[in-house]
Amino acid sequence: MIYCDYNATAPLRPEAREVMLLAMEAQANPSSVHGAGRSARRIIERSRQTLSSVIGARSEDLYFTSGGTEANALALHGALAKLDNPVLLYCDFEHPAVRDIAVSGRYTARKIKITPEGRIDLSDLERVLGDMDGETPFLTLMLANNETGIIQPVEDAARLVRNHGGLVHTDAVQAVGKIPVNVGLLSVDYLTMSAHKIGGPQGIGALWMRAGAPLLPQQIGGGQEKSIRSGTENLVGIAGFSAAMEAIDMASEPRKIGSVRNRFEMGLAALPVTIFGRDQDRLPGTSCFALEGFKGETQVMAMDLAGFAVSSGSACSSGKVKKSVGLVAMGVDDNLANSALRVSFGYDSTEEDASALVENWLRAAKRAHPEKFKEYA
Ligand code: PLP
Repeated sequence: MIYCDYNATAPLRPEAREVMLLAMEAQANPSSVHGAGRSARRIIERSRQTLSSVIGARSEDLYFTSGGTEANALALHGALAKLDNPVLLYCDFEHPAVRDIAVSGRYTARKIKITPEGRIDLSDLERVLGDMDGETPFLTLMLANNETGIIQPVEDAARLVRNHGGLVHTDAVQAVGKIPVNVGLLSVDYLTMSAHKIGGPQGIGALWMRAGAPLLPQQIGGGQEKSIRSGTENLVGIAGFSAAMEAIDMASEPRKIGSVRNRFEMGLAALPVTIFGRDQDRLPGTSCFALEGFKGETQVMAMDLAGFAVSSGSACSSGKVKKSVGLVAMGVDDNLANSALRVSFGYDSTEEDASALVENWLRAAKRAHPEKFKEYA
């Protein structure tokens, strides 16, 4: 099996696995005052230091959660509960962990338009902010999209929101460890990250929060994580999360992954396919493309039979293949959006993987749609 689905979950890095095995041996309650508890605490605080330094933050402002979904929920529910007359601003390309909160009807929410290039429409954001009267804007804007890899102008959007006295959350689950991320430069108040997108374990993530940013804890209990997120810490997960992060060489890994993706897209260049966000700032390993009429779902199955793991739709939850709301919001027509396939490479991908994937995809596409490939012998 050639794995090309890193945006869904990256395979566990050996470095993370090794540290997790050691942490399993060291299992004790990090809140216990005895030596074993203190050792567990040291593992957690060292991990907090590693992870916060990667985003240019202070370790005391990072809180561990059970993953990206929980960190997003904590930021949104927690902040909105504290603000006066809050209005949640969001775009349709957000991950369901965010978008489903915005469309739940629980909060006053306004949808911001998306440009045909797949980015937040900053002039629409400005217009919506200008129309506000006595309301507090709270923008949630992902840093990099899980389907297309398109990177959002979070810093510019945050400046506009700040000028209107608002707050900003960014879901950086797909961005951290793949592009440089700095909370100060982004000028955000809350940032979400998750371990399993970078080769750490599933079920562990973190929320960074600017010191003094408002937040009502959503889970109360033993007072762990300074009462922001009660519950005995996931020692093994936390240790694996930071070990995965430490294994990333930001000076070389993204470039290497980018050349695998570029090799893949070069292979597609002469074919009748649409590559979404091709000319945009994108994550190095992500390619989202479509051959009209060749259904995403059919492609995933054909590629699986050929020995490749790829995704269609947003594909974050098991077995569900849904049309991408994000692509449709970019103005992509339903037919093409239904034919979208997402390929995502990562730390262990090779250029040979990319070439083999193109070759096998082309074989499957020709079999399914011979008429489209007559002139592409
Ligand atoms: N946000 C984005 C952009 C994602 O791609 C994912 C992936 O599933 C999540 C949030 C959810 O993170 P987790 O699986 O850690 O809950």
